[in-house]
Amino acid sequence: MPVTNGKVIFNSVPEGYPEPGKTTVYDDSEQIDLESVPIPDGGFLVKTLYLSVDPYMRGRMREPTKKSYSPPFILGEPLTGHGVGVVLKSKSSEFKEGAHVYGVFKHQNYIVYPNRAGLIVLDNKQKLPWSYYVGAAGMPGKTAYMAWKEYSSSKKGETVFVSGGAGAVGSFVIQLAKIDGCKVIASAGSDEKVEFMKSIGADVAFNYKTSNTLDVLNEHGPIDIYWDNVGGPTLEAALEAANTNARFIECGMISGYNTAGGAPIKNIIHVVSKSISMFGFIVSRLEHKYDEQFYKEVPELIAAGKLKVLEDVFEGLASVGDAILAVQKGTNKGKAVVRVADQ
Ligand code: NDP
Repeated sequence: MPVTNGKVIFNSVPEGYPEPGKTTVYDDSEQIDLESVPIPDGGFLVKTLYLSVDPYMRGRMREPTKKSYSPPFILGEPLTGHGVGVVLKSKSSEFKEGAHVYGVFKHQNYIVYPNRAGLIVLDNKQKLPWSYYVGAAGMPGKTAYMAWKEYSSSKKGETVFVSGGAGAVGSFVIQLAKIDGCKVIASAGSDEKVEFMKSIGADVAFNYKTSNTLDVLNEHGPIDIYWDNVGGPTLEAALEAANTNARFIECGMISGYNTAGGAPIKNIIHVVSKSISMFGFIVSRLEHKYDEQFYKEVPELIAAGKLKVLEDVFEGLASVGDAILAVQKGTNKGKAVVRVADQ
């Protein structure tokens, strides 16, 4: 019996914020027969369980002529992004029926992979919820863990400022900085997020929409390490409040993702006068060095309750567009995940 193979199509390039139903469209017109669908030798059929919705997806919603580190979404084709699924049928010795896999998925209920396509099999010894493997135990967790290890050179007693501190990456960074014995200042865009950041160990947490960031940093700084998730005026304030020899870990600049021209910085001269080291990075370029260590340590830390995880689960493939907008606007409360199916 054929079943619906729903998908989320990239429908138009947005000018400002992405619009659910216009930028992306849910399409349930395709059917798939799970018994007879052709699977090539070495290939396998995957049922999508959880999809990750991440800020960088906004950058992929562009004209194909614009160059960037990640490929543009293709108009008329399904979105792609990190996901977890289960193998339903297989002609691969590595990806057996019943195995749970992680990697890049089409935003679609069922996918035939002709080969391993960069996927890995998850062993999940700790029996974590599968969704965690697109969050703290997946790409955003790797972002926090790998770049903190590579660039922070943190020393006990140093002061760390984390912007976007209530999100998937920022909340992990706060907890890493506390494990290293640092004092943590963290910002986010609502009072509820402020309470969450305090609950995971931030010493000073504030709402950047209702407090003056520079005043807070001047009171509790100077900053030795700045983890930047947002860029723009927050980065300018961090440059003002930075200590000599500060390290700035440039993870993302979401304040400029939905405006033409991004969010320009006026006081970059402090990099010179304060001998600041700035480290920009893309997580996929650090994976070869840290992947093994990450999968050995992080699921254990989560299972032991030493790393707290907060998820915002959106229900069903049709909610992908809403989840994308929520992440850009900040209405998500924790790691944005779309539950496509439980098993
Ligand atoms: P989050 O879960 O933190 O969601 C994004 C958050 O950004 C929103 O919830 C919102 O929170 C905040 N935000 C939106 N607009 C603004 C604004 N104008 N000013 C300040 N904050 C804003 O996302 P992630 O944790 O997944 O990602 C965090 C950052 O890490 C992003 O910049 C992302 O691009 C980057 N990243 C970089 C990677 C790399 O390899 N370099 C890999 C993965 C992520 P609030 O309510 O606080 O405003």
